[in-house]
Amino acid sequence: MFSGFIHLTPKAVLLAMAISYVLTTVASELYLHRSRSHRAITFHPVLCQFFRMWIFLTTFGVTVKMWVAVHRKHHAKTDTVEDPHSPVIHGLWTVLSKGVLLYRKAARDGEVMKTYGVGIKEDWMDTHLYTKHRFKGAWFFLLAEMALFGIEHGFYIWLFQLSVSPIWAAGFINGFFHVVGYRNFETREHSRNFFPIGIIFCGSELHNNHHAHPASAKLSMRWWEFDSGWLLIRVLACFRLLTINRVETGVFEARDRTVLADTGIKA
Ligand SMILES: [Zn+2]
Ligand SMILES: [Zn+2]
Repeated sequence: MFSGFIHLTPKAVLLAMAISYVLTTVASELYLHRSRSHRAITFHPVLCQFFRMWIFLTTFGVTVKMWVAVHRKHHAKTDTVEDPHSPVIHGLWTVLSKGVLLYRKAARDGEVMKTYGVGIKEDWMDTHLYTKHRFKGAWFFLLAEMALFGIEHGFYIWLFQLSVSPIWAAGFINGFFHVVGYRNFETREHSRNFFPIGIIFCGSELHNNHHAHPASAKLSMRWWEFDSGWLLIRVLACFRLLTINRVETGVFEARDRTVLADTGIKA
């Protein structure tokens, strides 16, 4: 069997998967989510180009505009019948097992794209490559990785890369983050902080904090909460690789539609 130009040991294969996981998580949580959807941060153009290419290569048919529009609709219609992926409405198991289908259904809706994709302009790279050929990027990446690492290793790495978005983001995050965990804010929906130490999902674990302060670059609000995404944002800002546009740090800065869950004080 063709073994590729670069021989990887089993440990190196695992390392490649781990690096891929980090890149996809950062591309999703920091670039697509905090930057493009909520404009809390602005990345340096070089990093923007990298993330766009990574998303093109490691997902099947996901474009920046689609991701942003579906996510913004989730915020606008959270946990109502119009929410694209609410476990409260659709049931947790449906979101866990069919999260990708729910996402694709919303992304195919022209009205959703028009209403919630506002401000996301598609440039030459989008119209000629990323959007036009959005299902071809992953196939190209499969061939490239098989050529580089051999058929077997290339396929396993590729399969893992392709599974991160649908299994973790579309299924696990959209499902559990509105069902399991604690709440700092009595927001009008069911969002929850899945875990106070946000490392595995780059800080998106602090989902209730995020729904209370959608435009904040920093998601941790209590001294015992940790947002690894915020740490990375600070480091990249030091190197001028991104600009921080907005930070809301305290529980007492919640939007006026929220109250503090543990005190009942109107914010
Ligand atoms: Zn949510
Ligand atoms: Zn959001």
